[in-house]
Amino acid sequence: MGKIILTGDRPTGRLHVGHYVGSLRRRVELQDSGEFDKIFIMIADAQALTDNAEHPEKVRENIIEVALDYLSAGLDPDKCTIFIQSQIPELTELTFYYMNLVTVARLHRNPTVKNEIVMRGFEESIPAGFFTYPVSQTSDITAFKATTVPVGEDQLPMLEQAREIVRKFNSIYGDVLVEPVAVVPDNETCKRLPGTDGKAKMSKSLGNCIYLADSAEDVKQKVMNMYTDPNHIKVSDPGTVEGNTVFTYLDAFCKPEHFAKYLPDYNNLEELKDHYRRGGLGDVKIKRFLCAVLDEELAPIRARRSELQKKIPEVLEILRKGSIEARKTAAQTLDEVKAAMRINYFDDDSWVKSQTEKYNQ
Ligand code: ATP
Ligand code: MG
Repeated sequence: MGKIILTGDRPTGRLHVGHYVGSLRRRVELQDSGEFDKIFIMIADAQALTDNAEHPEKVRENIIEVALDYLSAGLDPDKCTIFIQSQIPELTELTFYYMNLVTVARLHRNPTVKNEIVMRGFEESIPAGFFTYPVSQTSDITAFKATTVPVGEDQLPMLEQAREIVRKFNSIYGDVLVEPVAVVPDNETCKRLPGTDGKAKMSKSLGNCIYLADSAEDVKQKVMNMYTDPNHIKVSDPGTVEGNTVFTYLDAFCKPEHFAKYLPDYNNLEELKDHYRRGGLGDVKIKRFLCAVLDEELAPIRARRSELQKKIPEVLEILRKGSIEARKTAAQTLDEVKAAMRINYFDDDSWVKSQTEKYNQ
C-alpha cells in the first residue's frame, strides 16, 4: 500500500506562522522527501462554512489567499494536488454514511470541538454542521485513503475520531478504509504556537496572528508589541523565559546558524535564555533578534507571493485542475464504500438477479 498525505486548512483568513510551523512547513518537507505516492492538500471551504454560514463572502475571499500562501510557502502543484473541498460532492455523501457510525455522545466528548464551541460563543445554538465536522473530516481523510495527516496538535482528537470510524466501518462492511496516522511537529512549541498575545493558540479567528503575507514592517511592529515578562522592567532585572512570547517564538523558529549571523555573542538559544534569566539582557535586543530570524524565513515566502499575485488565472487553474483530479480519487473510494455497504444496486448483478428470482418463484 502506498503512502498518501491528506491535509488542509479552512479558508477563514490568510495563513499565519502557526499554520506554517504546525503543518505547512512539514508538508513542504514531506513533499520534497519523495517518500509519498500522492499528496492531497485541501482548502476546506465546506468545513469553514459550518461556523461561517452567515459570512459566505469571507470563505469565498479567502480561497485565493490560502492558495497563494500554499504556493508561496513552497507547495508545488507538480508534486501535490491542491483542491477545493466543496467541489468534491463525494465527500458529502461519505459523511452521510459515516454519521451512522458515531454517536452524539462521542461527538460531545471531542475536546477540540468543545473548546471551539466555547471560543465561538455558540453555547446552545451550535450549528449541526459544526458539531459534526469531525465526521466530515473523516470523509476528507478516508476518501483519499490517506495514511499520513500532518497537522497541529489541536487536530489529534479529529484523527482519533477518524480512526474509530474507519475501524467501525471496516468491521461492519469489510476492509475498505485506511486508518490514518497524524504527524505532529517534534518541536513542542510548534505543535500549538500561541498568538502574539501569548495566551491562546494563534488562530485566525482570534486576531492574534503574524501572517505569512505580513510585510516586514508589520512583523516588526507585532514583535515589538509582544508580551514578554512583566517583571523584567530594567535591563538588569532577571527575566523569565517560560511563557515569554518572544522566547516561545524563538523556540519555534530559531536555528543555531542564526546566532553567527545576527547575534554572534551567543552560540545558541540556551545561552541567550541563560543570560535573560540572569539579567542584563534587554527585551528590545531579543525582539530585534526575533525579527531577523522571522524575516529570514518569511522574506522568500513574501517575495514568491508578490510574484504569484500577478498570475491569479494560473493559480485558479491549479485549483480547478486539482479539484478535477481529487474528485476522481474520491469517486473511486465512494464506489468501493457503496459496494461494501451493498447499496450499489444497479452495479450488482447478483442483487438484480436475486430480486428477479425472488418475485418469480
Ligand atoms: P480557525 O480559527 O478558522 O479554525 P485556525 O487558525 O485554527 O483557523 P485551521 O484552518 O483550523 O486554522 O487549521 C489548519 C491547520 O493548522 C491544522 O493542521 C491546525 O492544527 C494547524 N494550526 C492552526 N493553528 C495552529 C497553531 N497556532 N499552532 C500550530 N498549528 C496550528
Ligand atoms: Mg482551527
